[in-house]
Amino acid sequence: MVDPLEIPGMKDVRMLLKKHHSKEYGYRPIKSVTYIAIHHSLTKSGSAEAFARYHVATNNWPGLGYHFVIEKDGIMKWCNEIEKSTYHVGNSNRFSVGICLTGDFRTEKPTDLQWKSLNTLTKWLMRELSIEPENVFGHSEFSGYASKQCPCLDMDKIRLSLKEKKQPSNKPFNFAKYYPNPTGKIYRLSELFSKINHLSPPELKKINPQLTSEATTKPPDVQIQPSPEAPISQEVSSEISTYIRMMEKEGYSINYDDSKDYNLNILGLRTPNHIPNKFDDSLVVFWKFNGTWHIKKYKITTDPGTGPLLNLNKKGNSNGTAILKKGQYKDSHIIGYHKKQYRALVQANPVTVIRDNNWDNILDFDNGREFTGIFGINIHRANEHRESQQVDAWSAGCQVFANPQDFKEFMDMCTKSNLEWRKNFTYSLINV
Ligand SMILES: [Zn+2]
Repeated sequence: MVDPLEIPGMKDVRMLLKKHHSKEYGYRPIKSVTYIAIHHSLTKSGSAEAFARYHVATNNWPGLGYHFVIEKDGIMKWCNEIEKSTYHVGNSNRFSVGICLTGDFRTEKPTDLQWKSLNTLTKWLMRELSIEPENVFGHSEFSGYASKQCPCLDMDKIRLSLKEKKQPSNKPFNFAKYYPNPTGKIYRLSELFSKINHLSPPELKKINPQLTSEATTKPPDVQIQPSPEAPISQEVSSEISTYIRMMEKEGYSINYDDSKDYNLNILGLRTPNHIPNKFDDSLVVFWKFNGTWHIKKYKITTDPGTGPLLNLNKKGNSNGTAILKKGQYKDSHIIGYHKKQYRALVQANPVTVIRDNNWDNILDFDNGREFTGIFGINIHRANEHRESQQVDAWSAGCQVFANPQDFKEFMDMCTKSNLEWRKNFTYSLINV
């Protein structure tokens, strides 16, 4: 999975743009994206938000036609997943990623900041999608569009500048730091994403080499520093203070910094009756902003459904189904794609799971063996359209929302949090 948020200054506005009430763009495999298309907006001013409103309300399109918009101030906005086949170059839509610069370049030039951002974004796309400068086209260079006045830029000059100096490769994600890796391979973050979203047992073993040896499966001792002070203000509700006390008792750290909004604490509450197949747990999100605490609570399951318990592990994983162990997993999750399909919180750093290995339809928390690693323990939703009553095959150890609207609200908060705070989220799980 390529992640445009790796680009410094990129703003993720995908969830903030106007969309058609019923139409949706289709998806294509990322491998088929082999061209970069450059457009101008043909307007002196305007933003991704304004272009989206126009494409939906006037053109009756599913959403904004471009994948990225670079506004006059050089701000880069990520508007659509690259896998979405949006409308911007007709017959070439299915293999092109579209960048639009605000401006009317028949009569004006891009700003210096726009040139800089276009260069950064194009080079990043070329590298991530393995696209050569020869395949960076202006809109009018695509077949059938010779008469189109878009983007009115010297594309040969742009391609030449893209050829000149190959950008040094993106900062590598040092996977070996977390996993002593005999092959010494350094994984890039984007490679890691693609791995954790479709995990097969051999792949799991490959990226978690410590799991191959019985002797080294013991999770490392993690020292969690309790927060030095507990500045619970007067206005904190008794419910939030209960959660804060529970987390403190476990030695979990809590985000108190309220200088910007959405400094989220994400806490899973697992109920004592481990009945599989029920959404009987809760996910609590609370944060403080300008001295005031906020809280949201959602119905989730922290346990696997009976499907995975009974079936999948018999064929799939000889160690049994994964159940996330209670604990605080620092920086464990980031926004990514669940099974390459939709945005969710995906696992990016190690967590500890207990594998239930007697397949008896009862969740064993005390008898299973523990493993620490990257298993694709994501935080995602069940059914896309309606609230689910039965967990069934929805969860194989993931933390799963029953209600899609709840999940959308949760992801909106996470997106806003990403804009203000760090890329990573810490997930805490408590047995209540
Ligand atoms: Zn165009």
